[in-house]
Amino acid sequence: MTTATSVLPGYQFASDNTSGICPEAMQAIAEANAGYAAPYGDDHFTQQVCDLLRDLFEINCDVFFTFNGTAANSLALSSLCRSYHSVICSQLAHVETDECGGPEFFSNGLKLLATPAPNGKVTPYEVNEFVTRRSDVHYPKPKALSITQATELGTVYTPNELDALNEATRRHNLYTHLDGARFFNALAALNLQPKEITWKVGVDVLCLGGTKNGLPVGEAVIFFDRNLSNEFEYRCKQAGQLASKMRYLSAPWLGMLTDGVALKHASHANQYAANLSQQLTQIPGVSLDSPTEANAVFVRMTPEIINHLNARGWKYYSFIGQYAARFMCSWATTQADIDALVADIRHAAPSE
Ligand SMILES: *Cc1c(COP(=O)(O)O)cnc(C)c1O
Repeated sequence: MTTATSVLPGYQFASDNTSGICPEAMQAIAEANAGYAAPYGDDHFTQQVCDLLRDLFEINCDVFFTFNGTAANSLALSSLCRSYHSVICSQLAHVETDECGGPEFFSNGLKLLATPAPNGKVTPYEVNEFVTRRSDVHYPKPKALSITQATELGTVYTPNELDALNEATRRHNLYTHLDGARFFNALAALNLQPKEITWKVGVDVLCLGGTKNGLPVGEAVIFFDRNLSNEFEYRCKQAGQLASKMRYLSAPWLGMLTDGVALKHASHANQYAANLSQQLTQIPGVSLDSPTEANAVFVRMTPEIINHLNARGWKYYSFIGQYAARFMCSWATTQADIDALVADIRHAAPSE
């Protein structure tokens, strides 16, 4: 079995995708590698994963696989919208800031209506504002809400918040798309059944992330409203997202979806983030930027700390602003990683 030693020793908190392949997924790939299998998803590994996902969500849903989250989100949104429609999302949403216009491109023109979202969460108030602002033909007609769970700021929508959004989308006849690149982290944080934070609260399509939680590559697009998946396989194929040797995209999920492995890895990541967050908030000169509810820690630090971390070669993102940092934990994060980071921050912190 592989262990979680780093290629770049201890210096990686940039993203949860700096981690490798988890042992369970690796094992599943090795097993799927024995012998021949039908191509393009007609193999039994792929069928089995689809069934496991139906079991997990306790509903007869339609499942597709893409190579990455950008394709999953873009194609899912394009299946909900016509070219003159719009999608309400957070200003920090991955679909808005990190997909190079993929949703707009694959839908031949849809417009994202991005709203400021406190702690990364879209509110029913904002949904209502965007829909009721205009109703004339000159305005791109709102057709869907896109939310991210866990959010881009490491927070988690509570069931009550999801209920309230569901109420707003139903009132305005909007579909709901859920970017679940870190869905398992949210699930682990909330300790609920998957259905309770998806189709039961009005989610029509979920892009379920696997990569950041230990898969080598690949996300699943899950349609709870099966009417919306009509001809989706053609979208995947045209977009270059239909894997010829599909079993290598699907089989790793077998490792994740057996014996609660996906949740185990997500909980691990969340626990280390909680631990890091808790330690960092004790240090003078460090303040939390948004609550640590999943596997991300957002902090602001003094310039001295930032300079020291950079000099020491730590990798992290600072897109939230100057002297700010996002530290991501993953299934592979170790206590030694956390302790080394905390020690370096403490070293450059002002004395009390
Ligand atoms: C990582 C991520 C994705 C997927 O990104 P790809 O690089 O296209 O796989 C989607 N949404 C969010 C919120 C993410 O963090």
